[in-house]
Amino acid sequence: MRFTQLLIPTTKEAPSDAVLPSHIYLTRAGYIQSIGSGLYNFLPLGKRVLDNVRQVAKEELDKAGCQEVDLAFVTPASLWEESGRFEKYGKELLRFKDRKNNDFVLGPTHEEMMVNLVRQTVKSYKQLPINLYQIKTKFRDEIRPRFGLMRGREFLMKDGYSFAASEEDMKGDFDLMEQTYSRIFERLGLDYRIVEADSGAIGGSGSKEFMVIADSGEDTIVICDSCDYGANIEAAQRAVVCTEAEEPEISMSSKFKTEGVKTIEALSAFFHVDPYYLVKTVAMKALYDEGESKIVLFALRGSDKLEETKACNAVGANELTEASEEELLSEGLVPGFMGPHALPEGSTIVYDEGLREGKSLICGANETDYHFVGFDLRGVEAAYHDLVAVQAGDGCPRCSGKLKHTKGIEVGHIFQLGTQYSAPLHAEFLDENGKSKPFVMGTYGIGISRLLAAIIEQHHDDKGCIWTKASAPFAVHIIVSNIKKEEEREAGEKLYETLQSKGVQVLLDDRKERFGFKMKDFELIGIPLAVVIGRNLTEGKVEIVTRDGLVKEEIEAAEIVNEVLRRL
Ligand code: ATP
Ligand code: MG
Repeated sequence: MRFTQLLIPTTKEAPSDAVLPSHIYLTRAGYIQSIGSGLYNFLPLGKRVLDNVRQVAKEELDKAGCQEVDLAFVTPASLWEESGRFEKYGKELLRFKDRKNNDFVLGPTHEEMMVNLVRQTVKSYKQLPINLYQIKTKFRDEIRPRFGLMRGREFLMKDGYSFAASEEDMKGDFDLMEQTYSRIFERLGLDYRIVEADSGAIGGSGSKEFMVIADSGEDTIVICDSCDYGANIEAAQRAVVCTEAEEPEISMSSKFKTEGVKTIEALSAFFHVDPYYLVKTVAMKALYDEGESKIVLFALRGSDKLEETKACNAVGANELTEASEEELLSEGLVPGFMGPHALPEGSTIVYDEGLREGKSLICGANETDYHFVGFDLRGVEAAYHDLVAVQAGDGCPRCSGKLKHTKGIEVGHIFQLGTQYSAPLHAEFLDENGKSKPFVMGTYGIGISRLLAAIIEQHHDDKGCIWTKASAPFAVHIIVSNIKKEEEREAGEKLYETLQSKGVQVLLDDRKERFGFKMKDFELIGIPLAVVIGRNLTEGKVEIVTRDGLVKEEIEAAEIVNEVLRRL
């Protein structure tokens, strides 16, 4: 296409609220236009990239046997009432009424709609498994829409749902989606990691996220420096910790006066004992449904830190909040001297796995100014869970590598749902024995519009965008240096026609602008390859410029078509 015929409103001005390169460049290069908080228009270039990303996803999903559908965006609230989410979803869900006073929602995700579709149309195990998806606008009234396409309120998502007859088949679908998603992100030229995500009550690896590695990512993830292990911070595990610290010599268990010694550091100094042998006891207030709450205690080694999401899952709470000093005192707990030994009657305590069979430990005695020395967990029945926050330098749970923290952008999420929606919505099929059973489901999402931002976060420089081959709005950008020179104009036109006839997507900058100005736009827009037709044409030469690194090379004009085709 010709620059003169395209709406590409490039500008020097960045949006005043933009901090991320993707937000700045996508706006400055005329890909998107903001029209309100978390709302964007896609201009011609933006639409082309969006379509490319969508196409890559579609091709791979179709290859994997998934079927594309297109569900109504406006969803009757009755479906959401059936699943119980109409009440639960919170303010992100946009609810509204039509003129007849019927309730509706704008779909932030489509589990209910898809379950409804399948429960009306799929009746037998013979029709299973089935995997349906759509690439569709979603609306979430996000509390803090920001970073341009990264966190919009209206955004484009690929959402897919698998329906199987058994847990085993569902896991097969899940694995296939993991492979399919991997191919999609590879084709898009992204450096990403698959990380184990917090799957709440499900546990295990029933939930995985695809994270594009970028400093600007909102998620902190843990990755191994030598294998491909990765996990969300809430789900990260580590190799069993073996200490080299000397075990304290404790001959008998007893209470010990430790006046004013309240922290792990102070305790470690006081007893000259490594924190590994101290018990850290953290009290939190756990919140449950219907306004219920209770104080719960978490015990871990003094050398470890509590991971709150893990702790929250361990006690099945909706949320954990700080417990006030008064609340602790009213439960008979003494801040600074809490411990698993001699706990007040009725207390709830969960131990970290790292304390299993622990001995020679020192813990709070639940009495002001006293600690208990010689605490021993061997043979003791107790609730053990993984509660620790993985630290940089911890051992990888899979290999002998070391773990480190990095930032990621969540671009995909695959989740083993089981019968969470099919059961309440009575979506059932008849199995081989004619028995009614709820579908076993998986749910799979890709942030299609977020991917535009993620690609640029990973591929840009201080001049603008650097699109990857599969995502770029055009494959080649022809810049005619001086359009008034007939010879240059003609060569540009000819190259444009030839490449197009060979199926190459080409942008021809045929504007009557200065060369420098056009070059700046090329750098900002970020098409991977440019051909500059300029002064050297009189010597039969043109220049090829690779956007990544802005590497320039002179090429025989006669050879340019072959050279471009070779590089694509
Ligand atoms: P996040 O943790 O980033 O809020 P999420 O876990 O709520 O995302 P999912 O429900 O898993 O999101 O949705 C599937 C995918 O949709 C996400 O992996 C992400 O790529 C994309 N997505 C979610 N929310 C937004 C948003 N507000 N703007 C753009 N893309 C989004
Ligand atoms: Mg998610």
